[in-house]
Amino acid sequence: MNDSHPLNQDQQIHLKTISKNLQIHEMIYDDLFHMLDEMIKKGLKPVICSAYRSFQRQKELYEKKCQYYLSKGYHQTMAQKLASQWVAKPGCSEHQTGLALDIVSGDYQQLDQDQEKTKEQQWLMKNSWRYGFILRYPQGKQDITHVHYEPWHYRYVGKIAATEIYNKQITLEEYLS
Ligand SMILES: [Zn+2]
Repeated sequence: MNDSHPLNQDQQIHLKTISKNLQIHEMIYDDLFHMLDEMIKKGLKPVICSAYRSFQRQKELYEKKCQYYLSKGYHQTMAQKLASQWVAKPGCSEHQTGLALDIVSGDYQQLDQDQEKTKEQQWLMKNSWRYGFILRYPQGKQDITHVHYEPWHYRYVGKIAATEIYNKQITLEEYLS
């Protein structure tokens, strides 16, 4: 799913609550916690800062980003175009599937490029495929994913797909095409 394949808004997702503000698809629960346990055993400090988002929540985030560009003087069409490179349009975010997570370092909780330098990201980029997760928006693949590099956004695709995507260093789009 991406900006050209919106999610059906009425799709039923079975969610599992993992903390006060976080819910995920129940399907990814076991693999996610195996991965997080392994990280904690290694002395790492993974923090999930975003998981499932409702259509409404995604709409709020997207509109906030559009407002930001409008306030910078861009006209509506351009503001929306710029905003959608950072925040998916409502209906188009992987977070609405419950299969995507933003994971950051407990020592560095910024969603910016320096996140890739943390021990947590270094580990995740190397090992998350073992648990069925991929770094969804890698560097240098923006032409294919249409999303900027996000060294914190992981997507569950299952272990078979994740292994192939990792080994070939490809994106989900390339895997599916
Ligand atoms: Zn994300």
